[in-house]
Amino acid sequence: KSESKSKVPQDGLFPEIIRENYLGSKKLLNKKAVISGGDSGIGQAVAVHFAREGADVAVIYKESDNDAKETQKLIEKEGQKCILLKGDVSKKAFRKKCIDKIKKDWATLDILVNNAGIQFPENDIENISDEQIQETFNVNIISMIAFTRDFLPLMKEGGKIICTTSVTAYRGSTHLIDYSATKGAIATFVRSLATNLAEKKIYVNGVAPGPIWTPLVKETFDDLSTFGKDTPMKRAGQPSEVAPAYVFLASEDSSFITGEIIHINGGDFVGG
Ligand code: NAD
Repeated sequence: KSESKSKVPQDGLFPEIIRENYLGSKKLLNKKAVISGGDSGIGQAVAVHFAREGADVAVIYKESDNDAKETQKLIEKEGQKCILLKGDVSKKAFRKKCIDKIKKDWATLDILVNNAGIQFPENDIENISDEQIQETFNVNIISMIAFTRDFLPLMKEGGKIICTTSVTAYRGSTHLIDYSATKGAIATFVRSLATNLAEKKIYVNGVAPGPIWTPLVKETFDDLSTFGKDTPMKRAGQPSEVAPAYVFLASEDSSFITGEIIHINGGDFVGG
């Protein structure tokens, strides 16, 4: 009953990017942030929350100029600068273009959010092609490691790296086999890199979302009527409910936290 009264849409068509009552207290004032997959869903919400907290944001996106321009508008409405970088993170030449642009415009980088990710429609192991496995790994984890390596020299005074993993890294998935394997790899990457960089004051953490209403899930799940219904909260979450954790991990509030994953999943209890 309370759900039907809520302003949260249930069909996933209009993901809530930022809550009206999210004031922001300039926790990221004068910071420079790069967000891959920052034009849509979770990444877009993170971009807008960062801007409300006072950060300039570079948004990396693959296709939709409309979504990117909309995100730019939302960032500029918060009084912050936005750089749009269009291309495929799995391509080395594009990654170099991104690094060169940030080096030229900002010289340094404070926050890197590795969030771009893909999943193919639900399928079982016998239906997964070699091409699909390759692409899922290239986009979700291989490019993440390479991007992080190449952005690190810009984090001269320290920095915050935040990677988007998934509940599937921990719970597994009956259908998203290759996808969940990449998300498990991301969680391990976070913990490993954190120990490697802690002394350099570069902190590495992750966020593991459960079911969140975004274009990604709309495209990949056949039946969304039960999406999120197996969580204790009996609903899927909104991007606006995930993004504040990224603000926390990007800000000084998390100054003694590294190598951790924040789970945002409505409870994620599936057992008896
Ligand atoms: P989304 O489709 O709205 O966003 C994905 C973003 O990734 C898009 O902005 C797209 O431009 C970008 N992207 C995809 N491939 C790219 C490429 N090759 N190069 C550059 N950019 C690329 O989906 P979302 O749900 O917001 O997903 C964001 C992240 O959250 C993903 O890593 C996803 O795996 C993860 N995640 C989502 C859920 C969920 O339920 N929505 C749950 C767990 C984890």
